[in-house]
Amino acid sequence: MVHIIGAGLAGSEAAWQLASRGHRVRLTEMRPGTNTPAHTTGNAAEMVCSNSFKSDDPSSATGILKAEMRRMGSLILRCAEATRVPAGSSLAVDRGAFSAAVTAALREHPLITWETAQVDRPELHEPTLLATGPLTAEPLADWLSAATGKGRLHFYDAIAPIVERDSINLDIAWMATRYDKGDPDFINCPMTLEQHERFLDALLAAERTPLADLDTPYFEACLPLEVMADRGRETLRHGPLKPVGLDDPRTGRWPHAVVQLRQDTLAGDHFNLVGFQTRLKWGAQKEVFRLIPGLEAAEFARFGSIHRNTYLQAPSVLDATLAVKSVPGLWVAGQLAGVEGYLESAAAGLAAALAMDGALRGLPATPFPADTMTGALLHYLAHAAPKDFAPTNAMLGLLPALAEGAVDARALKKAGGVRALRAAKGGIHRARALASLEAHLLAVDQAR
Ligand SMILES: Cc1cc2nc3c(=O)[nH]c(=O)nc-3n(C[C@H](O)[C@H](O)[C@H](O)COP(=O)(O)OP(=O)(O)OC[C@H]3O[C@@H](n4cnc5c(N)ncnc54)[C@H](O)[C@@H]3O)c2cc1C
Repeated sequence: MVHIIGAGLAGSEAAWQLASRGHRVRLTEMRPGTNTPAHTTGNAAEMVCSNSFKSDDPSSATGILKAEMRRMGSLILRCAEATRVPAGSSLAVDRGAFSAAVTAALREHPLITWETAQVDRPELHEPTLLATGPLTAEPLADWLSAATGKGRLHFYDAIAPIVERDSINLDIAWMATRYDKGDPDFINCPMTLEQHERFLDALLAAERTPLADLDTPYFEACLPLEVMADRGRETLRHGPLKPVGLDDPRTGRWPHAVVQLRQDTLAGDHFNLVGFQTRLKWGAQKEVFRLIPGLEAAEFARFGSIHRNTYLQAPSVLDATLAVKSVPGLWVAGQLAGVEGYLESAAAGLAAALAMDGALRGLPATPFPADTMTGALLHYLAHAAPKDFAPTNAMLGLLPALAEGAVDARALKKAGGVRALRAAKGGIHRARALASLEAHLLAVDQAR
């Protein structure tokens, strides 16, 4: 018997995967008896906000992740595809029909026992998966916090936008660190007085996401950019737009203001805008941040956000199979484990289930290869820097870099711009990921 706590995106997928491999599953969900501030039904896999599983483009990160999940018999993806609604190149669903389909599949499975109860602490008599999500009920969050160590469970999320390196204009921006201390690791975007004024006007006028009840108040040390700007027109120049110690090679002087971008992924494809956590609506972020010199054509791999989110400091708590290092027999999946998004949460549930299946059969833990999208997500959770750890979506930049010369970047950019280059890289990543997944699944099958 396996115990799964939480029948959201991750828990539902995990329950299905384990039952499909012959394990008896006890699935405990607190809804509808106790609700979260965002859920409104008693169904499994309820989508609390948008109805989209993101891009279906085969060469995108989510396209690759979907291909992997499809290959592994994902219940979430099967139900999503069965209930899809027209949404261009995205996989969007009729949310009611989708969660009804997942619920029916789980309830009808002879090896799954569904229980409605709020769990305040897991019993741990049997292998247990915590998949209670970003709105984990408080007593269980308190237990997890105590079990994993002080300061390793976070309750909110402040994310700065990430842009693709290839879309930054390095004829305007330049690489340097403040006062040239250490390696020139930051990309710096200079602003004149006029550019800074124009940027501020746009930032202050831009549309913001309204605060909801389930949002935690801001932390002073991590205010949204626009809230800092509300406090005075010079505030940002003393914070994230500070120009001191940054000589613009084109003028030999410090600009009026500077936006710094820091490398975000090992492959170096993505850079985040330092200190730019924000509540601006996504469309507004695109418009306002493209006013920054050097970012006029920026392609966003992720937008900024600030919302309530319970998640573990995964690199210090989990291994690359989502097992909790300090609590034998306990795994964590979904948003609580440090991924972000419906699809990613379901993928993490799938991966945790396969790891638990292996453990129940007495096999050594076998992480997914890091060049699969599933493996890249888990690798990031296990190996990112613990101090600044923030939850992640599936992104091509999490995958290991392609071999030198794998694509002719200059020719592709000339022919079709950044999009053509991204599609070509994505296609190669996809082929490598699917081949690697096949080899991994074969090896796991043989070990069983
Ligand atoms: C307000 C909000 C909006 C979001 N919008 C989006 C979006 O638009 N697109 C997107 O891709 N992602 C979105 N996310 C992020 C995330 O992808 C989803 O929250 C996703 O549902 C996470 O999957 P999960 O399985 O980890 O958690 P959930 O799907 O939340 O499932 C967790 C389950 O555990 C149950 N539970 C909690 N505590 C207990 C307990 N103690 N005992 C028993 N059961 C318990 C809950 O009732 C819930 O059913 C949003 C998150 C939030 C908070």
